[in-house]
Amino acid sequence: MQDRLFDAVVVGAGPSGATCALHLEQMGYKVALLDKASFPREKICGDGLTGHVLFELNELGLLDDFLRLEKKNAIVGGRMYAPNGKYVDFRDVLGNQFNNDFCYIMNRGLFDNFLVEKIREKYRIQFVENFKVEEAAIEKDCAIVKGKNAVFKASVLIAADGASSILSRRLLKYKPDRGKMFVTAQAYYRGVEPIYENDMVEAFCAREILPGYLWIFPESDNIFNVGLGVVADVARKKKNNPVKILDELIVKYDFLSKRFAGAEKITNNRGGLIPFDTCKRKISGERFLLLGDAASITNPVTGEGIGYGMNSGRIAAHHLKNCFDSKDFSTAYMKQYDQAVAAKFRKILKRTMYLQKAIRFPGFINRIAGNISKNEKLHGKIERILADRKKYQEIYNPLFYYRIFFG
Ligand SMILES: Cc1cc2nc3c(=O)[nH]c(=O)nc-3n(C[C@H](O)[C@H](O)[C@H](O)COP(=O)(O)OP(=O)(O)OC[C@H]3O[C@@H](n4cnc5c(N)ncnc54)[C@H](O)[C@@H]3O)c2cc1C
Repeated sequence: MQDRLFDAVVVGAGPSGATCALHLEQMGYKVALLDKASFPREKICGDGLTGHVLFELNELGLLDDFLRLEKKNAIVGGRMYAPNGKYVDFRDVLGNQFNNDFCYIMNRGLFDNFLVEKIREKYRIQFVENFKVEEAAIEKDCAIVKGKNAVFKASVLIAADGASSILSRRLLKYKPDRGKMFVTAQAYYRGVEPIYENDMVEAFCAREILPGYLWIFPESDNIFNVGLGVVADVARKKKNNPVKILDELIVKYDFLSKRFAGAEKITNNRGGLIPFDTCKRKISGERFLLLGDAASITNPVTGEGIGYGMNSGRIAAHHLKNCFDSKDFSTAYMKQYDQAVAAKFRKILKRTMYLQKAIRFPGFINRIAGNISKNEKLHGKIERILADRKKYQEIYNPLFYYRIFFG
């Protein structure tokens, strides 16, 4: 096959790569988008699409199309279980900035395919499936990626190849840090006994997996996405294999086992990684940059990464427009992308990292949950913060933690 010359070659058609490709296409650039999978493909995930995702869809002009999709379950709130099994409900007042739903739970295969279907409509994007990128090289005037039987050349390479990114290792010699990633396990069930109207997400901060949590996210059609994430070096220290411990926790805790008694497990437990080394590492170089999981851009407490990755795709596209305008793809110029990502995420992620450190202690979480459920005013305040995007920043205020800790 012949070499092809593009403005940009994007490796990985997950939410980060697809978002970046769509923005670049809207700006008039010719893009090659390569993925080793054939779409629709499966992706191990909690399937939680938050307000960040809706915001990015709106930026792409795709929000209305998304809201018309059928197979998504609207969520109005959440239940948080402390390690001692006591819980606090946050219900009805949560909303995103577009409507009253807090978030949606939707199978990731379907969501990612929704974006890919939009890609297929764009003649300026050459979408190549079943194409595994094996090598990448940066030359003076172009970036080159190679796979079996084909070579793609472009002015710039965008690596959006996910949590086990080979391009991050090849281009930046990045070595994943086990202290800065979650190891996870996930499975689908049918018919778990619901709470309320199947419209609440549930998170259980089980002491065995702190600072991680076990989730139960209800999808449409009585399907439940059940999984857990635990920091990789904690899992190693406690000898907790996430795939094994997921089943063990469901049996061990009565309040869970009762609800799973009549449920049917419809997949095996599958594992996956969530890197959260955000803003601490280099994510660009001459003629290339990294997005989403490949750049470790996720939330270190919740593991949320879809909206964050899409946001990095949008930031990258705007930065690349500047590169094309000034004809500058040098390492120094590309660094402005790292700075733009840091400006967006650093503050939030730094404070979330403190929170991650604090929630390693079961007693701390028990106390917080107790304080919130005893104190109606505090409970209401948290619900209002969660409901209002502008007030949301308050959860990063140290005073907020003082209040929830001391009641
Ligand atoms: C168990 C689990 C639960 C999660 N739950 C949530 C959640 O509920 N909500 C949330 O927001 N986030 C969640 N996340 C995180 C979220 O899944 C990721 O942050 C998100 O998928 C990142 O998107 P991405 O486009 O960067 O990478 P990906 O979605 O991983 O896409 C990468 C793409 O690159 C392709 N690729 C990889 N290597 C190559 C190659 N060599 N050549 C060509 N193509 C290649 C892959 O086929 C894939 O399509 C979860 C993660 C896990 C593991």
